Amino acid sequence: MVRSTRTTPLVYVDDSLDSRDTPMTGQPRYKKILLKMSGEVLMGDALFGIDTKTIESVAEDIKEVVDAGVELCLVVGGGNIFRGVSLAGKGMDRASADYMGMLATVMNALALQGALEKAGVYTRVQSAIPMDAVCEPYIRRRALRHLEKGRVVIFAAGLGAPFFTTDTPAALRTAEMGCEALFKGTSVDGVYTADPKKDPTAKRYDSLSYHDVLAQDLKVMDASAIALMRDNHIPIVVFSIRERGNFMKVLKGQGVFTTIA
Ligand code: UDP
Repeated sequence: MVRSTRTTPLVYVDDSLDSRDTPMTGQPRYKKILLKMSGEVLMGDALFGIDTKTIESVAEDIKEVVDAGVELCLVVGGGNIFRGVSLAGKGMDRASADYMGMLATVMNALALQGALEKAGVYTRVQSAIPMDAVCEPYIRRRALRHLEKGRVVIFAAGLGAPFFTTDTPAALRTAEMGCEALFKGTSVDGVYTADPKKDPTAKRYDSLSYHDVLAQDLKVMDASAIALMRDNHIPIVVFSIRERGNFMKVLKGQGVFTTIA
């Protein structure tokens, strides 16, 4: 597998060698993982909100992974509804705007819970901002017990603290729950040299080191999330969750993705 290191320049894959060549084992490569999705994934082709067809498709993908016996945690962002930084940029107090953003992640978590339960997956939502009438508060040991029982745990409201996005809470819960990898499901099938939607010559990286991502300031996840995964030696797998069936494929080491380790 082609990968970049600290001592060599970043290396991107070409068509003759990429993650499609990873041997197919037919088995998931990890037994316990966290999937982080940005809120934008849930809006499908719309410009705002939640697209029911998209969320149903994501729920089916998640079901496939849970049915294979993988313990799964979820963190979903809120960018399809509200991002604190956008109103803060227009003069609103940043902390208040961020609390609104955290509430948006709770709405997405509830939407995802509904779609998953409709698909036959048992779930629990735990919020870092306690809201007893809606979901459980975040309690680490209880979350671990849910996972043991085969329930998907959806972590909402980020860290419960402003001045963060959901990247860092996703990394933190990955480490706290003892997950073996952090999967980042996006609308792009990996990390590219440039935005592939704007630059047709952009190349996808097959693998990168944490250092590459931080030193080159590649916009994969917030630096604090990358550093947390680096310090705890937990790989990050970036893939597209928009294609039906892709989550399971990538979990088996098949298909197209970028690994950061
Ligand atoms: N947020 C926060 N603290 C957290 C997690 C989230 O303040 O620990 C707020 C922040 O305003 C953020 C918003 O919630 O912009 C939605 O999360 P995010 O931007 O990560 O959503 P995504 O881009 O993944 O859809």
